[in-house]
Amino acid sequence: MMNIIIFGPPGAGKGTQAEKMQKHFNIPHLSTGNIFRENIKNETPLGKKVKSILDAGNLVPDETVVDLVKDELSKPKYDKGVILDGFPRTVAQAEALDSFFEENGKKIDAFLTLTVPEEELINRILSRGEGRSDDTPEKVKNRLSVYQKETAPVLNYYKEKGAVKEIDGVGSIEEIFDRIKDAVS
Ligand code: ADP
Repeated sequence: MMNIIIFGPPGAGKGTQAEKMQKHFNIPHLSTGNIFRENIKNETPLGKKVKSILDAGNLVPDETVVDLVKDELSKPKYDKGVILDGFPRTVAQAEALDSFFEENGKKIDAFLTLTVPEEELINRILSRGEGRSDDTPEKVKNRLSVYQKETAPVLNYYKEKGAVKEIDGVGSIEEIFDRIKDAVS
């Protein structure tokens, strides 16, 4: 059982590294962004509710995200743990996750934060060509400012708990993954 949070600004490579970790550690990857995009694609009630928020690069309300993550984490597939990507993204979400884990006798085993200079983040996002509606220069600018304002405080929240491992997020995908393996073991 291993619960890992992979944290960092948009474009830091969380999703890419989380996929590699999922295979290597055999623990499921839970990406809130992927779940929202899937719901938008399938035009579910949740998808309809969050579409304009994602399009603008803003944050989905805490309550919606927290309910979603709790539901998801209650599934048996997460009995072996989880790699959380894109959550928690606000201090309120971090507090909700902590209570949920505590109630269920679980804990966070590693909090990994990927560090990448802002200039490189913008270049990566604008050149990744995934066709995401929030990958335009204006929206990327907004996502980075939302990150600084709402999400960066989550890092301090976990730093105070003494659980944060900083990972240099610049280099090849394999180099960064090696750093993650070293940090987790
Ligand atoms: P990125 O890290 O590149 O911004 P994500 O896939 O993690 O991409 O998130 C995409 C969008 O999904 C966010 O801009 C936000 O609108 C929404 N979202 C994802 N996770 C959360 C969350 N924990 N809280 C609020 N909104 C979220």
